[in-house]
Amino acid sequence: TNVTGSARFKKLIMNEQMEAALDIARQQVQSGAQIIDVNMDEAMLDSEAAMTEFINLISSEPDISRVPVMIDSSKWSVIEAGLKCLQGKGVVNSISLKEGEGPFLEQARTILKYGAAVIVMAFDEQGQAETADEKLHICSRAYQLLTEQVGFLPQDIIFDPNVFAIATGIEEHNDYAVAFIEATRRIKQELPGVMISGGVSNVSFSFRGNNPVREAIHSVFLYHAIRAGMDMGIVNAGQLSIYEQLDPELKKRVEDVVLNRRADATDRLLELAESTRFDSQEASDGPPEWRQLPLGERISHSLVRGITEFIDIDIEQARLAADHPLEVIEGPLMAGMQHVGDLFGEGQMFLPQVVKSARVMKQAVAILTPYIEARKAGSSVVQSTRKVLLATVKGDVHDIGKNIVGVILRCNNIEVIDLGVMVTAETIIERAKSESVDIIGLSGLITPSLDEMCHVASEMNRLKMDLPLLIGGATTSRVHTAVKIAPHYALETIWVKNASQAVGVAQSLLSAQDRPGYAKKMASEYQQVRERYKKRDRRSPMVSLKQARRNAAPVNWQTERPCPPRVTGIQTLGDIDLSTLVNYIDWTPFFRTWELTGRYPDILTDEVVGTQACELFDDAKAMLRSIIDESWLEAKAVFGFWPAQASGDDVILYQDEGCREELDRLHFLRQQKSKNNGKPNFCLADYIAPESTGLTDYIGGFCVTTGLGCEERARAFEAEHDDYSSILLKALADRLAEALAEYLHQQIRLRYWGYQPDETLDNARLIREAYSGIRPAPGYPACPDHTEKDTLFSLLDATEHTGVSLTESFAMWPASSVSGYYLAHPDSQYFVLGKIADDQVKDYAQRKGMTEKVIRRWLAPNIDSD
Ligand code: SAH
Repeated sequence: TNVTGSARFKKLIMNEQMEAALDIARQQVQSGAQIIDVNMDEAMLDSEAAMTEFINLISSEPDISRVPVMIDSSKWSVIEAGLKCLQGKGVVNSISLKEGEGPFLEQARTILKYGAAVIVMAFDEQGQAETADEKLHICSRAYQLLTEQVGFLPQDIIFDPNVFAIATGIEEHNDYAVAFIEATRRIKQELPGVMISGGVSNVSFSFRGNNPVREAIHSVFLYHAIRAGMDMGIVNAGQLSIYEQLDPELKKRVEDVVLNRRADATDRLLELAESTRFDSQEASDGPPEWRQLPLGERISHSLVRGITEFIDIDIEQARLAADHPLEVIEGPLMAGMQHVGDLFGEGQMFLPQVVKSARVMKQAVAILTPYIEARKAGSSVVQSTRKVLLATVKGDVHDIGKNIVGVILRCNNIEVIDLGVMVTAETIIERAKSESVDIIGLSGLITPSLDEMCHVASEMNRLKMDLPLLIGGATTSRVHTAVKIAPHYALETIWVKNASQAVGVAQSLLSAQDRPGYAKKMASEYQQVRERYKKRDRRSPMVSLKQARRNAAPVNWQTERPCPPRVTGIQTLGDIDLSTLVNYIDWTPFFRTWELTGRYPDILTDEVVGTQACELFDDAKAMLRSIIDESWLEAKAVFGFWPAQASGDDVILYQDEGCREELDRLHFLRQQKSKNNGKPNFCLADYIAPESTGLTDYIGGFCVTTGLGCEERARAFEAEHDDYSSILLKALADRLAEALAEYLHQQIRLRYWGYQPDETLDNARLIREAYSGIRPAPGYPACPDHTEKDTLFSLLDATEHTGVSLTESFAMWPASSVSGYYLAHPDSQYFVLGKIADDQVKDYAQRKGMTEKVIRRWLAPNIDSD
């Protein structure tokens, strides 16, 4: 998070998009950063204020502030501003003897007073230290001053002995890397306790534009510097090549340069860099070079790179060489997966790569299984004893996240029993018992699932089960888990934020040693969450429903007359060309599904996840081709428009244009948060002309799906041990469904309703919702009541026309479906309903003809109840 180092971060800070800027910090931590560097040195910024604000924000983000912060500035006043609000122990980057001992000592004293560690650059009054002798000399002097005069502990001193560019063509520069490495070794020897850091990418600066060579230089440099004692470095963890895996010729020539081993080293590296491209494993005629490696390494290579192409040949060879086929699993395969797990843990690999590695593992195991079974009689088959049961709860159909979690757990040698979707509490508990699992993990996406999870928890409690319960899925949260679910169950009930975190949580709970401590820690954390939640409640005042209605969205029905739709009745679209939809895809959520954060298309060139995002995107595009060419999925849509008028917060749909005969009624909810910013208390009904105007207005409804055929195809992939393709397909089907919703909405505005016939918006602007009118979906924030889908579906006869059905929780099946209303009024906008009060619950129950109790259950997330 450095405005001088990252163009993206700078842009966010300049535009005051602090949330998004925080996301960058979060993403860095998630991908393995162990310290977050914060730098606000930009001429157009009030750097002190920006530093203060950002540090304060970080402090209230537990997933960021769990790592230390490095305050980075060349201006002392900015450093001090940061130190003033820094929680815990931080690091100052940096001070030096550049301006003499006076300022150096003064700054060091201040840093010590604030309790931070410090980075000291190897600069003095004469300038930068270039040789190992100079570096050691300056660092020794600084060490003496800091430890003897200021009172610094050696372990709070981090020296940066200057990383300079090598292979620049200037002979004196050739020894810069060696000087750094040598200085590191000597500093660590002579100044015990201190640490060494460096800005790694400087070293390869002369190879700008050739990333494969730069990465190779970094990994060779780090390999040697770390052995000499380097403790930390400023690197892009996502872009490090693995030393052992470097192309041997490249490695040799890079090593010649880094270690300055021969006079012509630079020329030889340049020659190789120009003649060969290392960045792609392009299909060539012959077998790739890594096929020359010994068998074990080939298997490991296939696993780490996720290559399935040769795994059958290699596994067969390994099996023939082994005494028992099990040895192949326990030997090279387990070792390879361990390596994958480590790289993932260190943030050097990302989720899609791991899922691909798992596919290689699964296929290898499938080859060996028959041989193992055949030998079973005579041997003791070692089984993993740790089992996790996963299920999407009753009424819910979403399983992409759960499936990814399953894959990741299996990679870590945990057996996973996946019960699929729409699983009742009884089945979950029964199977947990019969399979003697060690953990139950529940997943769900729609809000009614939250309630179902509480039910499972209380059933587990009633039956006195002694298993930890994990909670995950898009609408779940730490607060909800702590406040609403955990109180139902006496044992550990823990929210798992994403697949990346699942392994750590599961492992803590599976270890008899760690579990008690972990459980205690989480219990007290959740207790705090509950206490904070209670306090927060009192801070957001509400108004009565009556007052809220008085503050409805002001709509002038005299100036904005309703536009009658061009077509009437229910319309269906079959035979929708999937290739039309591709241009309407919003790719950003696709990457989020795979836990790659960033906005499309910038994500493809992102420093950290760019390479991985491109690879995933290529796989996605290839599969999209097959989906289209081989008609894997079928898309269907139904929509309709009805004459309508608002009656209070309801919308009455009529049989006829004269609004005489009522056809049906939609029920909406109104925000009840007290507003002091002049904003209305929104309700979707405000955008339909009220009865009192005497005007005939209209409302539309739609249901689209691209999920027909998805499940069968996904199962076929799973049968081939290819979870990667199964998950990819489901993620793409979801994208196509949203794309179809977008496409159809556009056609509605242009043609079918025709209230914006001249609109010309590109996909980026469609995604930004630059058009007039909205398509709110029941179950989403403006209209969170899922039960209204019942009315919508019967109005459209949606199941008949599209094959989409509703579960008991009103989830749509197939999962890749979208349904909602069309509102045409230009003022209409999405909003978040938020909490509603008892008076509205009562009113709403009456309007819907349901009991208050039932309404409370469906709207639980919108109702404060203690
Ligand atoms: N372009 C995104 C759209 C996601 S939102 C994507 O491809 O994933 C999905 C749908 O939810 C929208 O198309 C809209 O129908 C609905 N929606 C969004 N915000 C809403 C809100 N605040 N209230 C009700 N429905 C909403």
